[in-house]
Amino acid sequence: MTGRPMISRPAPAPAALARSRAWHAELAWLPGRGVCADVLIEAAGDRFTAVTPEVSGDAIPAGLRPGLTRLPGLTLPGMANAHSHAFHRALRGATQVGAGTFWTWRERMYQVAAKLDPDSYLALARAVYAEMALAGITCVGEFHYLHHGPDGVPYADPNEMSRAVIAAAGQAGIRITLLDTCYLSGGLSPDGRPQPLAGPQLRFGDGDAEAWAQRATDLGADEHGLLSPLARAGAAIHSVRAVPAGQMHPVIAWAQRYGAPLHAHVSEQREENQASLAAYRRTPAEVLYEAGALGPRSTAVHATHLVGRDIELLGGSRTYACLCPTTEADLADGIGPARALATAGSPLTLGSDSQAVIDMFEEARRVELGERLASGQRGHFRAGELARAATTDGHTSLGWPDAGEIAAGAIADLVTVGLDSPRLAGATQTTALASVVFAANAADVRNVVVGGADLVVDGHHLLINDVPAALSAAIRPLLD
Ligand SMILES: [Zn+2]
Repeated sequence: MTGRPMISRPAPAPAALARSRAWHAELAWLPGRGVCADVLIEAAGDRFTAVTPEVSGDAIPAGLRPGLTRLPGLTLPGMANAHSHAFHRALRGATQVGAGTFWTWRERMYQVAAKLDPDSYLALARAVYAEMALAGITCVGEFHYLHHGPDGVPYADPNEMSRAVIAAAGQAGIRITLLDTCYLSGGLSPDGRPQPLAGPQLRFGDGDAEAWAQRATDLGADEHGLLSPLARAGAAIHSVRAVPAGQMHPVIAWAQRYGAPLHAHVSEQREENQASLAAYRRTPAEVLYEAGALGPRSTAVHATHLVGRDIELLGGSRTYACLCPTTEADLADGIGPARALATAGSPLTLGSDSQAVIDMFEEARRVELGERLASGQRGHFRAGELARAATTDGHTSLGWPDAGEIAAGAIADLVTVGLDSPRLAGATQTTALASVVFAANAADVRNVVVGGADLVVDGHHLLINDVPAALSAAIRPLLD
């Protein structure tokens, strides 16, 4: 004994062990409250702990002032890009000239797919996800079907391409749901028979759905579907064209076992509907419904050419509808019935799909603008509904229901849009959200926080110094 008094210190609370941060947002969009001013946002580790609007600068507690980050502009939750094919980014600009259809574009896309290997795909996807981060996307749903080597020969690890994609998201600092896609047939013949995969499509196929499920299991998700703190496993049925109805069950069962999201392309093309009707006497939505593939963990991607019964099935089952309006315009697909789907009960989400552009504001406003062009009337969606599609509902559809809101307890992802650009100057607290949804572009994103940590500061990606150079280096060899 030294005679020194014993000092008893309580063990620190777990939250105090995590790194604490605070931000003071000039304006922030908060659930149930709309755009609020002077919002003090606190986090410990990767979660928000408190969100308090109308805290003026001199009212910020002294203990929070050191290290406080001020966020001028409008701060939103992180945005979710619910439908992406990362490698299609290599085609931007290469397929925009001349005539053609979805089907001629697909031939060009197959040429790029044929050149990728795990190393080149890692480099490309890493750069594409960094572009997404700069655009305020903090979570991507990667609809991944480029599974195997040339001619369909599996790599030594049959999940090597999946692991490359997951690593790419991690290196770019964003969350990913790997929607491991079952792709078994090259289409349906006029009399409805599945056609074998051929040429570049051979790399997409696992043989049958049981083999797909075994490979998806071997990727190693835990019982909650998590692959890492930033990566989650999901499943996808490529389309009614590519997965015969009799092969859908193992994919659906796998998704149920992990509580995982289940996505499918639905009625992007009229030809797809015709093939489905010829094969099954049912629309793609009806085929998926009868297989048990629809429901509140499922997403119908595109949902463009629907009949009334399809809308009832999707809405009544609370299946998400993921619209990809820039791709649907770029490929001349058509304009989907967004308002009818939302009214019927399908929450809407948004995807950059073919990466014609990577800009969630553009995707969001095109949902409303497409309805206006199709109907000759304005005012189908409020800005808040479109912002919800890009944030809360997008995250939930990808299996991250606790992300996409600035609220205590939620995952601490933030996106701040500067309001001082020529496009947005003049916005007020009242008009800021509509200004951003209807006039911002991806370059207006200034700061991005993922899981409580800075990822983009003043438009600069902290993990990948020169994103344009990374994109160029990855894309040019693929276009030779
Ligand atoms: Zn797609």
